[in-house]
Amino acid sequence: MFADVIIDIQHEKLDKIFQYRVPKALEKELEPGMEVLVPFGKGNRQIKGYVTGLSETCDYDLSKVKEIVEISRTGVEIEAKLIALAAWMKENYGGTMIQALKTVLPIKQKENARVKKRLRLLLDKGTGEKQLHYYLEKHQKARARLMAALLDDPVLEYELVTRKLNITAAVIRALEEQRVLAVESEQVYRNPVKAAKEQEKDIVYTEEQTQVIDCFRKDYAAGERKTYLIHGVTGSGKTEVYMEMIRTVVDMGKQAVVLIPEIALTYQTVMRFYRRFGDGVSIMNSRLSAGERYDQMMRARAGKVDVMIGPRSALFTPFPDLGLIVIDEEHEPTYKSEQTPRYHVRETAIKRALLEGAGVVLGSATPSMEAMYRARRGEYTLFEMKNRSRMQDLADVYTVDLREELKSGNRSILSRKLAELMRERLDKKEQIMLFLNRRGYSGFISCRECGHVIKCPHCSVSLSVHRDGRMRCHYCGYSMPRVTACPECGSPHIGEFRAGTQQIEDIVKTEFPRARVLRMDMDTTRQKDAHEKILSAFANEEADVLVGTQMIVKGHDFPNVTLVGILAADMSLYTADYRSGERTFQLLTQAAGRAGRGERHGEVVIQTYSPEHYAIVTAAAQDYEAFYEEEIRYRELMGYPPAENLLAIFVSCEDEALLEKGCHYLKEYILRARGQTGAEVIGPASPGIDKIKDVYRRVLYVKAENYGALVGIKDRVEKYIEINSGFDKMRIQFDFNPM
Ligand code: ADP
Ligand code: ZN
Ligand code: ZN
Repeated sequence: MFADVIIDIQHEKLDKIFQYRVPKALEKELEPGMEVLVPFGKGNRQIKGYVTGLSETCDYDLSKVKEIVEISRTGVEIEAKLIALAAWMKENYGGTMIQALKTVLPIKQKENARVKKRLRLLLDKGTGEKQLHYYLEKHQKARARLMAALLDDPVLEYELVTRKLNITAAVIRALEEQRVLAVESEQVYRNPVKAAKEQEKDIVYTEEQTQVIDCFRKDYAAGERKTYLIHGVTGSGKTEVYMEMIRTVVDMGKQAVVLIPEIALTYQTVMRFYRRFGDGVSIMNSRLSAGERYDQMMRARAGKVDVMIGPRSALFTPFPDLGLIVIDEEHEPTYKSEQTPRYHVRETAIKRALLEGAGVVLGSATPSMEAMYRARRGEYTLFEMKNRSRMQDLADVYTVDLREELKSGNRSILSRKLAELMRERLDKKEQIMLFLNRRGYSGFISCRECGHVIKCPHCSVSLSVHRDGRMRCHYCGYSMPRVTACPECGSPHIGEFRAGTQQIEDIVKTEFPRARVLRMDMDTTRQKDAHEKILSAFANEEADVLVGTQMIVKGHDFPNVTLVGILAADMSLYTADYRSGERTFQLLTQAAGRAGRGERHGEVVIQTYSPEHYAIVTAAAQDYEAFYEEEIRYRELMGYPPAENLLAIFVSCEDEALLEKGCHYLKEYILRARGQTGAEVIGPASPGIDKIKDVYRRVLYVKAENYGALVGIKDRVEKYIEINSGFDKMRIQFDFNPM
């Protein structure tokens, strides 16, 4: 038996795996992830290494292969578990061990230490409140915002204030000169959060919350580490429940990871955790440099952090005794990595929890099909939270049929109902959000008169138009000439569905000249922090209407928004993707949830060409169960995940002819290699974009009921392309259950 060993990962480059012979005496015991002592280099100096894999064959000259000295007994290294996790990721998602290790291990990089600055309120509460009123009267919104935050927490991090509260340095300086606040650097800073912590109000948990918390505690005390799915409407108090669960494990001396999509990682959310857990909270985000990230990881590893909050990569925080992993907004597509290994956070978290003896909590108002499917099969424990904790009711939803609008002569993107409600809101000085759920690439073909959408006869996803003018299926490659009349009703008004946020902004400005309009999309958010700036300007009521893509539905709470318009619900419905129904339902439900977050009642208008589509009907009724039932039937019928599993094999090459040939051979090989697994091979097809920077791209899909069968096929394909030099010029990537 031979072991793959990574040498002394802390100090040396992670660029090579060395093979060592496993002594007979250790064969039974040795496992991937274990720390071992091995002879290394010319002098055979004994150094530490980590076993990343075991095999019965050796790729090197047997006479030169050295032997492992022993299994290291100096206590289990934290990294060992992360290495075991990396090995699992490599196995289940493809790619190399190095790629997997680089994903899970913090890579050391030098970084000059930066001094952290903080703001401290110098006024007492009474004076501070008077000052706040003064700012509000004078319409000094930035000052008011800062004062309100300081009254909540007398010490704030400078960075949080400038970045999340969007306060300029000039404002801070002005208040500093007026002796309203002091700017302090790290050295003088004495644990401010404790003072803030005492002000935390005690809340009385609702019956639903109590039930979830009690059940979790009972399981946890009994040593049961389960995966829980909390399906709770927005505002049902999920975050409070997470915090209470985290409290339970932190009180036992354990640590917790809280994963939140980056876009929802707002100042308000972070402050809630700070108030509860004080200094023990640490945040990770994409703005941290590699060095800062490394430092954070080392702090966590040394036991100086209780709760790590962050997006996807925070999952790999090395903790001495991880007790709980929380994944909020579990359904978000950003939880799937776009880089090899293309892991999904949900499954990887569950694996990590298993290795560490920790629990997992998933939460969402619109759980992914995967999570609900597994919960229903008893793999996860399901909790339902149906009531909003603050007794607000759900918004009223109207569905507008755009075909009817066209029939009665209205060609505007704003339906009559939406325009009427907008006028009403503008008169009442309430705010409006207009939402366009546009997806990246090429459009589907639909009929403006009857709403018919052209679909692939084999795959039940919509065809999309390509540059050559043909309509193609992105799964199987089926194609047909572009239609000029609707095959259903004969109308010539059939074409690509196109509308942009810019266009909508212009229309709103023309139709409502008095309205102040803000737009948020890829174009207006290129600059750093532009995203936050637009949102906080809108939160400060510096605009009446916010027009945007899915970016606007997350994060901030806008209590003055009482109307949400979804301009073209179909846009995400007919993308060439089997998840389009699910995405649409989630987006519509989330967008609808933005209306009426404050005291006033909210209304939502959904404009669509397919008012009878189940994703739209169920979203309008805010009926998750009904959506799930329909959707799972479709997935089962078509063999799509989560009913079955899908492996996408992306092949790219500069030479188009070679690529075609390669795909052909690959498909032939898989058909032979699949054996009795029942796997189906589909394609080669276009992955949406056929060519990037002169590199041609193709994709093959392999469908199978059993995930393990797909892993087996991946392993064999990897070997096949390794020994066939024809594939040298091609790049091949695997994506399991792609999103
Ligand atoms: P979710 O995460 O499900 O959207 P939150 O936990 O953010 O819900 O709760 C929504 C709001 O209701 C928050 O302001 C929270 O502080 C408040 N809240 C939650 N639970 C309670 C409770 N039991 N009593 C009073 N307020 C609550
Ligand atoms: Zn038609
Ligand atoms: Zn097809």
